[in-house]
Amino acid sequence: MSQDFHAPAETGWHVDTLAVRQALPRSQYGEHSEALYLTSSFVQPDSETSAHNFAHPADGYTYTRTANPTVTSFEQRLAAMEGAEAAIATASGMSAVLLMAMGLLKTGDHVICSQSMFGSTIKLMGTDMARFGIETTFVPQTDAEAWRAAVRPNTRLLFAETPTNPLTDLCDIAALAEIAHNAGALLAVDNCFATPVLQRPLSLGADIVIHSGTKFLDGQGRVMAGAICSSRKLVDECFNPIIRAAGMVLSPFNAWVVLKGLETLSLRVKAQCAQALELARWLEQQPQVERVFYPGLASHPQHELAMRQQNGLGGAVLSFTVKADSPEQGRARAFHVIDSTQLCSITANLGDVKTTITHPASTSHGRLSEEQRQSAGVVQGLIRVAVGLEHLDDLKADLLRGLSTLA
Ligand SMILES: *Cc1c(COP(=O)(O)O)cnc(C)c1O
Repeated sequence: MSQDFHAPAETGWHVDTLAVRQALPRSQYGEHSEALYLTSSFVQPDSETSAHNFAHPADGYTYTRTANPTVTSFEQRLAAMEGAEAAIATASGMSAVLLMAMGLLKTGDHVICSQSMFGSTIKLMGTDMARFGIETTFVPQTDAEAWRAAVRPNTRLLFAETPTNPLTDLCDIAALAEIAHNAGALLAVDNCFATPVLQRPLSLGADIVIHSGTKFLDGQGRVMAGAICSSRKLVDECFNPIIRAAGMVLSPFNAWVVLKGLETLSLRVKAQCAQALELARWLEQQPQVERVFYPGLASHPQHELAMRQQNGLGGAVLSFTVKADSPEQGRARAFHVIDSTQLCSITANLGDVKTTITHPASTSHGRLSEEQRQSAGVVQGLIRVAVGLEHLDDLKADLLRGLSTLA
């Protein structure tokens, strides 16, 4: 059964309360909903104050690339929900990954990543970082021994994502934190799929949490956003100096949208998880379905770890394979099920209140060779569903339309 996380010591408030209340103080007008400061710069009362604020950005706002009150409110709220000392908002999830790399790594450093990370993360941490003399080793997601064996004297960072897309493989965050810290390295966890409603990686020993606010945090598919949550020291010394110069900042408008999204995150995610569990159980009973991948099912190989690490919840993303005799037939059948839907959106986004459906082998994993896909388990008959808030009976009927008419 899911439980509320313990309240942080400072306020005594539970996470659900902080999700609604944590923000900068109201302005002199007493607005009830947090203000949207849609401004690129801030007027200084006099030159002396201006000089001070430019030298000490924490004391007063000057320019939105440096800091903005709406963005600060979002950072404070997300940090509170993750149990982090601080957060820094970025223009997208990928710019959070870039900022982390720029803030922590230098030429000659080594990184260990799961081989099942988000596709753009694999490209950025592999191909792109290699151009700057940073080497990344990719290891199997679930195999802690492979992570341990990949450690070198120059390993600076371990970077994991749990659960993964689309097969919902987990990694044991506490075990990876121990491997990282024994090696004198840091552990970063992409918490995009789980959100702080399911798991708070910092409480399990991770040092850094990466977010794409584009997914569940917004939850209604409106804006791009990202964030890094970590210690105050890492934010102040490693990340803030870079972002102020490099400028991959979150726009105040997008920050405001995601700030308001956080207020309903817990309700949405818990409801979407409950629907996903019911849908996964139903899919397991359909004769045309070969296998369902969902951490909330007892049949998931890491079900026990999922229940322990994810607050008793399986998440809102599941995938399943349709039965087929060949990859060609699997692809045709998956396309038939997807194209027979009238309700689910055929789109790559996830975490939305609108259910989305995709064919990973021809979208997120389309650039891999058939052999690489087979070894990653992303077969042609695989379908991913990111479950939203529509009525469960309507979702079942939508999937059944294709499943019951397979050739
Ligand atoms: C979408 C996604 C990202 C990238 O986020 P953007 O906001 O699209 O840049 C990173 N990690 C995971 C797990 C994602 O799903």
